[in-house]
Amino acid sequence: MKNIIVIGNGMVGYKFCEKFVSKPGNEGFKITVFGEEPRPAYDRVHLSEYFENQDAQALEMAPRSWYESHNIELITGVRITDIHRATKTITSSKDITYSYDYLVLSTGSSPFVPNIKGVEKQGVFVYRTIEDLEGMLEYAAKLKATNPNAKAAVLGGGLLGLEAGKAVMDMGLEPHIVEFAPKLMPRQLDARSSQVLQLKLESIGLNIHLSKATNQILGDAAITGMEFGEDDVLDVDMLIISAGIRPRDELGKTCDLEMGVRGGIVVNNKMQTSDTHIYAIGEVALYHGMIYGLVAPGYDMAEVAANQILGNTEILMPESIDMSTKLKLIGVDVASFGEPFMPASKGHSVIFEDKTKHLYKRINVSHDGKSLLGGILVGDASDYNMLHQMYLNGMAIPEDPSQLILPASEGGKSFGSVMDLPDTAQVCSCESVSKGAICCSITEQGSNNLTDVIAKTKATTGCGGCKPMVVDLVNETLKSLGKEVKETICEHFSFNRQELYDLVKINKVEDYEEALNLFGDGDGCEVCKPALASIFATITMETPNKQVVIQDTNDRFLANIQRNGTYSVVPRVAGGEITPDQLIVIGEVAKKYDLYTKITGGQRIDLFGAQIHELPLIWKELIDAGFESGHAYGKSLRTVKSCVGSTWCRYGMHESVTFAIEIENRYKGLRSPHKLKGGVSGCIRECAEARGKDFGLIAVDGGWNLYVCGNGGATPKHAILFAEQLDDATAIKYLDRFLMYYIRTAGPLVRTAPWLEKLHGGIDYLKKVIIEDSLGIADDLEAEMQGLVNKYECEWKQAIEDPNLLKRFRHFVNSDDTDDNLVFVPMRDQKMPKAW
Ligand SMILES: Cc1cc2nc3c(=O)[nH]c(=O)nc-3n(C[C@H](O)[C@H](O)[C@H](O)COP(=O)(O)OP(=O)(O)OC[C@H]3O[C@@H](n4cnc5c(N)ncnc54)[C@H](O)[C@@H]3O)c2cc1C
Ligand code: SF4
Ligand code: SF4
Repeated sequence: MKNIIVIGNGMVGYKFCEKFVSKPGNEGFKITVFGEEPRPAYDRVHLSEYFENQDAQALEMAPRSWYESHNIELITGVRITDIHRATKTITSSKDITYSYDYLVLSTGSSPFVPNIKGVEKQGVFVYRTIEDLEGMLEYAAKLKATNPNAKAAVLGGGLLGLEAGKAVMDMGLEPHIVEFAPKLMPRQLDARSSQVLQLKLESIGLNIHLSKATNQILGDAAITGMEFGEDDVLDVDMLIISAGIRPRDELGKTCDLEMGVRGGIVVNNKMQTSDTHIYAIGEVALYHGMIYGLVAPGYDMAEVAANQILGNTEILMPESIDMSTKLKLIGVDVASFGEPFMPASKGHSVIFEDKTKHLYKRINVSHDGKSLLGGILVGDASDYNMLHQMYLNGMAIPEDPSQLILPASEGGKSFGSVMDLPDTAQVCSCESVSKGAICCSITEQGSNNLTDVIAKTKATTGCGGCKPMVVDLVNETLKSLGKEVKETICEHFSFNRQELYDLVKINKVEDYEEALNLFGDGDGCEVCKPALASIFATITMETPNKQVVIQDTNDRFLANIQRNGTYSVVPRVAGGEITPDQLIVIGEVAKKYDLYTKITGGQRIDLFGAQIHELPLIWKELIDAGFESGHAYGKSLRTVKSCVGSTWCRYGMHESVTFAIEIENRYKGLRSPHKLKGGVSGCIRECAEARGKDFGLIAVDGGWNLYVCGNGGATPKHAILFAEQLDDATAIKYLDRFLMYYIRTAGPLVRTAPWLEKLHGGIDYLKKVIIEDSLGIADDLEAEMQGLVNKYECEWKQAIEDPNLLKRFRHFVNSDDTDDNLVFVPMRDQKMPKAW
């Protein structure tokens, strides 16, 4: 029996044990593990979760019984002080000596504490272990008991610093981040993405101080502030230092192993140190001149060391290590992959930025446009897994690379499927699980759902970032075998939108909380809240005024937020017909509130630049003059565009304006899974572009031709001919049925065109349901639509008449002050927001 001693029972030391005992040939070895911390290895990546429940056990990588059952001796609370290479022994802090055949150093790293005057004061912490967190919690509780407005700073605006910033917020202290560099996360983000992240973090209450070098920590025994320069002081009551890590390589130094110039124990691609019986893995190992401060490379190193000791000498560490990462920092997605900062000589970058929504996406593409070289995502990293795989596997990218990053709501389309990945693609890098292994677990090993696949492969059990992709793979593989796959709206409801619609309707559920109690789990999220808001609206015609908190931002304020944080006002102009008097009112309101005006593509007038407190004042004037909400902000009917038709046009066959007004007024205020647009053209010349809409009517000899499921935008789709030569009443009847059926059955944020694409049986099936009434639901659909039409109320009128509803139109929740940070510059006799 040979002895393996593992020094360090952190994430990587544990993973070494787990991998070793799962491999054939391990029977001839006895493993003894030493850990300096008082408990078995725990998940440091999710350390911050300790603030939520203070349950150390919940973070454990495995309980003590696991070590026992695998014949591993785990000795915690003991530090190893010396390695005697000549005798192949080690000594512990209890002065006991142990012999080894192989030694594995997985001593990790410790936080770097810069040599700042006063750094030893009470109230200064680092952020690495459960004990660090316990110390902070205790100190914060004492501070708050005497000073409810106590402040804490984090020194370091990198990845861990921001995580610590969240900890400060969770402890109820006023959070400050102090960073030496001029931007946040300088190692992962470029200047623009860093700025977007900063805006987002500031919007949720973090105070960020950049380009600050701390000279000294102020205070007597305990910290009272940080001094950056003369007259530049930040008063704080607590400080968390997060200024990088240093490998815990002291054992290597004292036993003369080869060391890196700036620390770390040098290893080769077998994870061997300069002594072939001693291996180093994880954050203590210096491989190719680098310490990799992430868990995935550490797990790869554990795999290599375990194989090498077992004699599988062909398993080596790859030459280059992928440092791509995806994190959720204070609830904000941040990811970077490949070469995030690529020089212009190597290729070009495509950037999508929306500062209002705090979104930034950058991809770097080779000069020939064929391959993806890297990228950065802030605010929404849902594309990360697929982009990362495309980069890793050198997959072909679309001719127009912007398709890869445009959000679906902006017309971006899904690009490639997980099933297009090669079987060798490593989907879960923490646990090295390939696409092939996940699919095989279903096709050959009998897994029937995600839980089975996770149990068999361990995919998703590391950082968890691969979960969306694993879910897609499991679903697609099950579907390919003809098995049922359940698509749910989010993790809080295990139902799809159609099922939830039925449940809410049949059970007469009245509000979101009741739905969550009856059919859901947890607290809900930004996906299920607006989805349910839309369901309530389409069942009861309730406006966003009823359940304000579950609406998305635009619906909450009944206006579209614009890029400088102001809002736009769009009154309804049904069919695009407007009287001179109405034009004058709009002009007068625009002048009075100094609003930029523009005619929209939907034939109405958009007034831009209104501050939130002005919205009710503006709407009051418009409503007094007979206008109504145009619902330009809602997932609802927008406009029914028309040409002048037979009223004026010499080619016109029918009165397109009259019919467009009738249709727009019929469906105004109707909430739906996505926005809805219509068009009516007076002849086949199609001046109203009706075939680019969700529904369109074109006048022909003998009536109207009805087209459905078209859209404009980034991926235009022509609407499909649905029925011909209809009279007005039949056209409305089919429209009622079609719209109601779409509302009942489409997923959240699915427009009519992709809904039809997925509808089993396609347009022929839709015709059967709507025209031939094959399901026997036509009367019900019509009656339901008529019920909604009868209940319509203008939501802006509701809002301005109710003082309670008006309270939300304030800049600051706790005061009536207005936002005086807005800056406009002149443009062509109007104004525009000053560039950011
Ligand atoms: C708050 C936080 C968030 C993080 N988030 C992420 C993330 O999102 N993604 C990611 O990839 N990485 C993240 N990391 C980094 C990740 O946790 C580390 O890469 C990983 O834990 C390294 O594992 P390790 O086993 O090498 O070192 P460690 O986990 O540090 O374990 C080393 C262990 O060895 C013990 N030890 C040291 N010397 C001795 C000795 N002489 N005798 C006995 N025991 C000894 C130490 O006490 C320690 O328990 C995060 C880290 C922190 C602190
Ligand atoms: S309004 Fe113009 S800039 Fe804005 S999303 Fe539409 S096309 Fe893009
Ligand atoms: S679509 Fe026909 S009726 Fe309408 S404006 Fe154009 S030409 Fe005239």
